[in-house]
Amino acid sequence: MYEPYPTPELSHEYKNYRYSSLWHYAKQDLRQLFFFMVIAGLVGFGIGYFWICIALACFLFIVLQLRALYLVNAWIANRPYDVPPNLDGIWGALLFNIYRSQRQERVVQAEMVGLIDRAQSSLIALAEAVVLTDELQQIEWWNPAATQLLGIQELDRGRNLLGILRQPAFIDYFHHLEQHPDGIKLKLSLEEERYVQIKLTRFGTESRLLLAYDVTRMHNLEQMRKDFVDNISHELRTPLTVLSGYLEMFTDQDDFNPRWKRPFEQMQAQTKRMNALVNDLLLLSRLENDKTIAKNQIVDMRGLMNQLFDDAQAYNSEYGHQLNLDIDSHCDLIGSDIELASAFGNLITNAIKYTPKESGAITIGWHDDQTHGYFTVEDNGIGIDPKHLPRLTERFYRVDTARSRQTGGTGLGLAIVKHVLMQHGAHLEIVSRPNQGSCFKAVFPKERLYQTEH
Ligand code: ADP
Repeated sequence: MYEPYPTPELSHEYKNYRYSSLWHYAKQDLRQLFFFMVIAGLVGFGIGYFWICIALACFLFIVLQLRALYLVNAWIANRPYDVPPNLDGIWGALLFNIYRSQRQERVVQAEMVGLIDRAQSSLIALAEAVVLTDELQQIEWWNPAATQLLGIQELDRGRNLLGILRQPAFIDYFHHLEQHPDGIKLKLSLEEERYVQIKLTRFGTESRLLLAYDVTRMHNLEQMRKDFVDNISHELRTPLTVLSGYLEMFTDQDDFNPRWKRPFEQMQAQTKRMNALVNDLLLLSRLENDKTIAKNQIVDMRGLMNQLFDDAQAYNSEYGHQLNLDIDSHCDLIGSDIELASAFGNLITNAIKYTPKESGAITIGWHDDQTHGYFTVEDNGIGIDPKHLPRLTERFYRVDTARSRQTGGTGLGLAIVKHVLMQHGAHLEIVSRPNQGSCFKAVFPKERLYQTEH
């Protein structure tokens, strides 16, 4: 361990030296002066030069004081970390107090250095990469894992971190930390396909601490899961189409035996449900992979809202709720119309499904307050217990599984909504009370709003 200065031991006298009032030390000086005066007085009286001897004694006393001052100054200037010269009187007290406070400071300093040393050793031993940058984004310190994972070398010291991790996603993250509270996943090298999860933390004025760890295995597993779901959904599509085709063909026949009507209807309902499930899985998988659909179309909200309202009315025919449309915004949305229609449609069908048939009222709204756009669906249906709200957008999470199945739900609707909103920089807010109703609100940021002329 590095120690800034060795701390010399105090001499025996110094150890016994205790701080007390200045008077205690001044008394030593006065005693000395008194002693000089008495000797000088006696000698002067004896030889007949009383005042001259007294003056000489005063002079000697001043010389001794000046010598002490000189020693104090020399010690402070040249060897402040050595044991101070052994002096009596107020100069000795002064030296002692300076030395004591210095010793205390050195102990604290040594403790601090020890602490930093231990922190540094543990950071060096970490398997996660740690990089420290200063206010100018220049690399100050990193651990060996950062060399291994991010390739930071000795010659990178003082270089700008953004010049080393140059991906646009990282640069964007670096400047907008608050938008990614969990950090970001970066693909490091094209050839090797390595992925790291990076988390930046701001400290001091503008310094940053970067933490990174290898998530390649997790990424590959996640990709395998996505591919599996994607493949199986594709594979299921054809048999399902054949099945529903034949089922329809059979039921449409004139000589169809009425005895088979109910089983066939059930088979049709189940194939329809499976079809919906497969379609939702494929849509989710496409959203996750985020490659196919452009996200910069200007979506005519008035047109979309009317379209959604018409669809809702058709779906509502068997429920008979009162449907209302409430548009008081002149903004359009910038995004993908297919995805947005699908997400909004899910929220609307949920409101219709989860509202009991008697006196159900559902309002579909589009508003803005210049800073955000709000798509809302409000119902007076069965509502949701607050304990379910945090998990509601998870795949296959249902409050009441039986009810969801009964209504033909796949359990994927809100997961799709969440993904679509995420890709549009928006988020979902849910306010709900059991037996009183729910309000699902998709909140879009200003950048996604497009001011129309009318
Ligand atoms: P599902 O296909 O089951 O409707 P979703 O992902 O769309 O799946 O919804 C998840 C769960 O959230 C539903 O099973 C339901 O319990 C609850 N839920 C969604 N919307 C509403 C609503 N408007 N009112 C009450 N519960 C709702």
